[in-house]
Amino acid sequence: MAQDSCNNNFNDIHKPFNLQQTIAESGRCLYCYDAPCIQACPTSIDIPTFIHQIRSHNTKGAGKTILSENIMGGTCARVCPTEVLCEEACVLNTSMEQPVKIGLLQRHAVDTLIKNSNSHPFQRKATTGKIIAIVGAGPAGLSCAHRLSMLGHNVNIYEAKPKSGGLNEYGLAAYKMVDQQAQNEVAFLLEIGGITIKNNHYIESISDLKQNYDAVFTGIGLGKTYTLGIDNEDINGVQDAVDFIETLRQTEDKKGIPVGNDVIVIGAGNTAIDAAVQAKRLGATNVTLVYRRGEKHMSATSYEINLARENDVVIKLWSAPVKIKGKKKVKSMTFAKTGIVDGGYKITEETYKIKADMVLKAIGQKLDTTHLTMTTEKGKIVVNNGYQTSVAGVFAGGDAIKSGEDLTVQAVEDGKQAAHAINTFLEEEV
Ligand SMILES: Cc1cc2nc3c(=O)[nH]c(=O)nc-3n(C[C@H](O)[C@H](O)[C@H](O)COP(=O)(O)OP(=O)(O)OC[C@H]3O[C@@H](n4cnc5c(N)ncnc54)[C@H](O)[C@@H]3O)c2cc1C
Ligand code: SF4
Repeated sequence: MAQDSCNNNFNDIHKPFNLQQTIAESGRCLYCYDAPCIQACPTSIDIPTFIHQIRSHNTKGAGKTILSENIMGGTCARVCPTEVLCEEACVLNTSMEQPVKIGLLQRHAVDTLIKNSNSHPFQRKATTGKIIAIVGAGPAGLSCAHRLSMLGHNVNIYEAKPKSGGLNEYGLAAYKMVDQQAQNEVAFLLEIGGITIKNNHYIESISDLKQNYDAVFTGIGLGKTYTLGIDNEDINGVQDAVDFIETLRQTEDKKGIPVGNDVIVIGAGNTAIDAAVQAKRLGATNVTLVYRRGEKHMSATSYEINLARENDVVIKLWSAPVKIKGKKKVKSMTFAKTGIVDGGYKITEETYKIKADMVLKAIGQKLDTTHLTMTTEKGKIVVNNGYQTSVAGVFAGGDAIKSGEDLTVQAVEDGKQAAHAINTFLEEEV
């Protein structure tokens, strides 16, 4: 595949609206009383108000309405599965019409505000003299930092990776996050002041930070991956889908990225779909996504599943991996047919083989509990209603806790709410 055609495969998947399209689309909103779209947005953005502001040609005002609830409204507009969040709730769906394209309107408003403002749209309150440590510069940590700064606190963020942004920078699909979106958003967010990020700083004892800080927020995401538990998993050609995606996101010229001819992706979530679609767009001839249950059990949304099919990814259901074959390098995989027998999930004796020179495992991420001293349960840090962990003064949010779905927008909401909880904690301490 020629260099340009390969790189073009990673252009923006959703073309942004121009001004005319934006004004026309904003005219479709019914401005519902008790708008269900607001309830469906994890960050409770006042959607009818921002759409009304767009319609009244106050696009910068619309951007501020969005960012006041969701400081990463620019990224969320690009990556939210709107088909199961705000746009699913749009009342136009009930009259068999297309829902208002809330994500694209949001993107236009936030991009316009950021591009055309000389100063940051939010100010810090008078400084409180308090300093908070945040571990992890992903959406949860950054959102928490920004809100804490608005409340007048100073923040030091410790981030293990060389770049900030968490999965916004290292995980989200390249065709959703074009033009350095993640880094531009971090720079925008830091304009408020009072936040210092220390990159390449892995913190082992998170709870110990409390000794030197007024409070601590843990936004460490899910740093480990599950394994298949079968032989040959470490053989050449078999790798975690998240590592494959990270390399892809960090390589500007995609043409140089090694990809197999016959790629198998194992999993059923959005990571599996992202890996499969991106492998295909890199130039793989055959990409087969294999899942042990049926389509209705897949955690990927129907939009994502369709996207995979539109990109010629073959989806094989009711198949469990049993063998990875190959000596120095993977050559094929054997799968056993599965099914529901007597109401229970069963692996049958019927098997089949798929040729492979690359296998991407996308069977889920889990919390790295190696150095955590706070209570965890079912692979998540336990927090109370105020986002506080079992260690006093140590808070947590994002993928590391069980709140809503593991989504960017939920991590942003957790960070925001935790900042308010930390503020209350500090006020009560006085
Ligand atoms: C491949 C993939 C695709 C996805 N696509 C979508 C999508 O399209 N839409 C969507 O809404 N969601 C998507 N998600 C989910 C979304 O990315 C996450 O829900 C979100 O990033 C969680 O934010 P977080 O801040 O909790 O964690 P992360 O984004 O994981 O950030 C955690 C940060 O903490 C750092 N860290 C961890 N431990 C330490 C430590 N001890 N010391 C210092 N730093 C540390 C990490 O390096 C990382 O930067 C996707 C996830 C993956 C894996
Ligand atoms: S943040 Fe996401 S869910 Fe909320 S309104 Fe925007 S696109 Fe919809």
